[in-house]
Amino acid sequence: CGIVGYVGSRQAYPVVIKGLKRLEYRGYDSAGIALLNGGIKLYKKQGKVADLENYTIGKSLEGTTAIGHTRWATHGEPSDANAHPHLSGSGELAMIHNGIIENYASLKADLLQKGYRFKSDTDTEVLLNFIEDIYKNNGGNLEEALRIALKRVVGAYCILLIETKNPDTIIAARKGSPLVIGIGKNEHFLASDATPIVEYTKEVVYVNDYEIAIVKPDELILKNLGNEKQTPFITKLDLEL
Ligand code: GLU
Repeated sequence: CGIVGYVGSRQAYPVVIKGLKRLEYRGYDSAGIALLNGGIKLYKKQGKVADLENYTIGKSLEGTTAIGHTRWATHGEPSDANAHPHLSGSGELAMIHNGIIENYASLKADLLQKGYRFKSDTDTEVLLNFIEDIYKNNGGNLEEALRIALKRVVGAYCILLIETKNPDTIIAARKGSPLVIGIGKNEHFLASDATPIVEYTKEVVYVNDYEIAIVKPDELILKNLGNEKQTPFITKLDLEL
């Protein structure tokens, strides 16, 4: 239901947790965060963002790239296992998702036949492993794997993806669910709406349907699903929070 991401030079955990709290007004049943620090550190819990914070006390929370999520369950009951982020079978990719993948059942049947096993009942974990299956067969090009996967997806989504081998990059995409990217100085903020971003920057880009964003601290590239670069349109926020 709510999505927050950060790439830059700050510690990402506090930025993402604060952002998730800003999105609490949307309602949710669980919350989670994945940090890139060497590998992927994944923490997720049914309940409030405060429950997630309690759960992470004393854990390794270092890292300058992270994605966080508050979930409103549509496929699979509210539970720790069904909370986002989800980790791919190889453990190399983590993903969060707002929305619904309508054709997840047929994708899942194909993946089960290929030997994939699932740790949750979500449509999201199916999409993630569908992406990973393409990724494994294309030499590990995540952007291309995502593009190919999204052409097969029926439904609505805003997704953020991270991969262990590119520790300073978030790849995002949307269709039907909103995504805003805040532009900072050598940092970017991603969120479902501008409320988590406005305290850091007033310059934002509203990502359009069927666009993929490749987001690094000092670079924002937008492409359509045909792999053509799009010019980001920068909007100045005038709201104060
Ligand atoms: N369909 C996904 C799930 O049930 C995402 C729900 C959401 O938008 O929070 O896990």
